[in-house]
Amino acid sequence: MNAPIAGDPDLERLRALIEGARRAVVFTGAGISTESGIPDFRSPGGIWSRRRPVDFRDFVASEPARREAWSQRAESHRTMAHAEPNHGHRAVASLVHRGIVTTVITQNIDGLHQRSGVPPERVVELHGNSTYAKCIECEAPYPLDPILDAFERDGALPVCDRCGGHVKTATVSFGQAMPEAAMRRAEAATVECDLFLAIGSSLVVHPAAGFPVRAKRLGATLVILNREPTELDALADLVLNREIGPALRAVTGSN
Ligand code: NAD
Repeated sequence: MNAPIAGDPDLERLRALIEGARRAVVFTGAGISTESGIPDFRSPGGIWSRRRPVDFRDFVASEPARREAWSQRAESHRTMAHAEPNHGHRAVASLVHRGIVTTVITQNIDGLHQRSGVPPERVVELHGNSTYAKCIECEAPYPLDPILDAFERDGALPVCDRCGGHVKTATVSFGQAMPEAAMRRAEAATVECDLFLAIGSSLVVHPAAGFPVRAKRLGATLVILNREPTELDALADLVLNREIGPALRAVTGSN
């Protein structure tokens, strides 16, 4: 059953656009996970108001940079490991199950779309995944917990058993190449979509923020749902400056 949204023209319009879509894409940023207790990067109190992200080139070249990167990961692990999907994630999952949304392109690294029930093959992780680590040379995967335990116990920095390379979370750092297969899948979904919903992203991180621009230029309807204005608002057909969970819950009628 749909939640009451009569008298709220923006939500009514969003619902109509969603109901009328045949191949929608959802594109998410850190904002969809703040209601799960994971801070975003750019809001006041977000991670970047306290610590700068470590550039990939610095990670490769400098032990203090690797130490800072693992210290940041140890800090975020405490919140991310206990986070659960929220109303926003579940509403998106319901749209995937109804066959309206074909693909969820996410900049997030928390795995909450998959945990909310979106089949993994329908999620494109543009910036990787922080639930495991891998060697930056040979890409051998490593579970995170033993690495974080050793780092927090005696400051040990992980190196690869196989090739001696540095081990980093399986996320895409600034300065690091984008994953080719994920970029290809995101591009294909963007080109085919008739509705592109950008949710909880400041839309300033490139190349990810190029996807909504491309969708709009190819004729899709562009909707931006974000608490604050974004750089792409002028391009959008509909902008909702709202809290994500309540808005999507009202529009989709999901729990
Ligand atoms: P961002 O921090 O630049 O932007 C998040 C936006 O979401 C902000 O504009 C904020 O106003 C909005 N927002 C926050 N909570 C909201 C809510 N409840 N309702 C509506 N709007 C809300 O994040 P970004 O655009 O994703 O780019 C930053 C990078 O940060 C990404 O590349 C991502 O990989 C990484 N990141 C990921 C996580 C995660 O996985 N959960 C967390 C922090 C950062």
